[in-house]
Formats: sequence, C-alpha cells, structure tokens
Amino acid sequence: MSAVMPMDVNGLENLERIIKSGRIPHAFLIEGSSPEKRLETAKYIAKSVVCVSQDKPCDNCPQCKTVNIDSNPDVTFVVPEKDKKTVTVDQIRALRSETVVLPHAAERRVFIIKDALQLNEQGQNALLKTLEEPPETVVFVILVDSKASLLPTVVSRCSIFLLSDDSPESDDIAIDSREFISLLFDNKEYEMLLATRKYENDRTKAKAFLDAVKIECVRQLRSEETSKYRSKVLSRIYDEAEYLSESLPANINLTLLFTAMVCKFKSFIK
Ligand SMILES: [Zn+2]
Repeated sequence: MSAVMPMDVNGLENLERIIKSGRIPHAFLIEGSSPEKRLETAKYIAKSVVCVSQDKPCDNCPQCKTVNIDSNPDVTFVVPEKDKKTVTVDQIRALRSETVVLPHAAERRVFIIKDALQLNEQGQNALLKTLEEPPETVVFVILVDSKASLLPTVVSRCSIFLLSDDSPESDDIAIDSREFISLLFDNKEYEMLLATRKYENDRTKAKAFLDAVKIECVRQLRSEETSKYRSKVLSRIYDEAEYLSESLPANINLTLLFTAMVCKFKSFIK
C-alpha cells in the first residue's frame, strides 16, 4: 500500500464529515482541481476552524466574513515576498516562530501555503520541522497541484485530500473511469483497452484519466454496498493508478503504459 490509504483521499464531501466531527488534523494537503478551487477549500477549512457559530462554517459570523475577505488575524497566507518567485527559507523560519504565538480570537490559527510549488527543497525541509512537532494551536493547509511535486516526508505528515475537477470535460472523464472499472470487473479486457485509447495522445488527459480512476475507486470504497473482495481490488487499482499518475512525466509511451496498466489491473481480479 502507498502512504496514502484510499479513504483518506477525498473531495469536499468527506472533508465536511471530518470538520463536522471536530477532529481537525494539524496539516491538510489539498491537491488536484484548479488553484481557485484549492483556495476555496483552504478558506472553507480556515472558516471551519475560526467560526464562532454552532454549525461551522456558517459563512455569516464576523470570523467567517473576515476569512472571506482575507483579513482574519488568525488566518495567514504564506506567499513569496514582493518581487520574489519562491517562499524563502527565512520566511519559513519566521513562520515557525509565528506558530508559537497564540491565536487572537479563535482556538487555533490557520496557515495557508497557497502554492507549495513556491517552496523549494530547503523551504520544504524547514517546514517539515514544524509539521513534525506542530503546536496544538496551529492548522496548516498546504495547496498544491500534485503532491508528487513535494518531498515524501512533507506529504507523510499531512492528511491528503484530492479534489475532483468539475469542468464539463471532467464529467466525461469521470463517466469513462466509472465505465472502465465496471469493464474490469466484467473481465472485458479488450473493451478496457479501447476505453483508454482516447487518453493515449495527451499526457495531461492521461493524468486526468488516472486521477479520475483514483477518485472513482474512493467513491466506490466509501459505498457500503461495495463487497470486501471488490474493496480489496479497488484499493490495489487505486495504488497502481497513483503510482502511474506520479510516474507519468518519465514515461515515454502512453499506449504501452495503458496496455501494461490494463494487464496489471486484470491480475488483481480473481
Ligand atoms: Zn462562522
């Protein structure tokens, strides 16, 4: 199994459940979808942390309202300094000392790293020290296109959420991935190969398809109707799809990649 159990990787729906339970982890890693949607998700988490209403986040109390206009004193955005492209190690060090400062009004402070790609390896290592021993009054929200671009040590410290894309095109991909998985359970290898064909010419589309397969696995794993056997297969598909999605840039031939994938997936079936 990979470091990430399928059930930890979810869209907003499951995030809501975690927030309602009140067990908010000390570090979130939000990947996938667009920068706008990731930011929206980060603000949703921030509001859930600082909100003063019973039903969090209410979007209506002074705390929520100030998060919406980026002016809540307990919510800090970590971005590069003016005219710089990266978040410097000094900034991260300064951040570390800031994390020990108690919140102004809320119970916890939220630090949002708007784009983790702006953190180089040194920066990530500096951040790791805080992630390893986080003060109880702090929640980190790290936003990134794909967690593959971060140090595994950083990733392993976070609760990971994969956002699904909600563009019309991604609806088609979601349908294709669902169909693809049913073909697998119906033992229709040839049809599976045909189904991947339209994703063979474009790396971005291929990645979108693999991510959609992952999301579909999570969706089915979450369903109570999914049998034990099916869950086991889905977990293996998830891990394999994740591995392939992360190794995509290095892979030369997408047709070969998908053919090998179909064979591998078939081997998971009894
Ligand atoms: Zn509120």
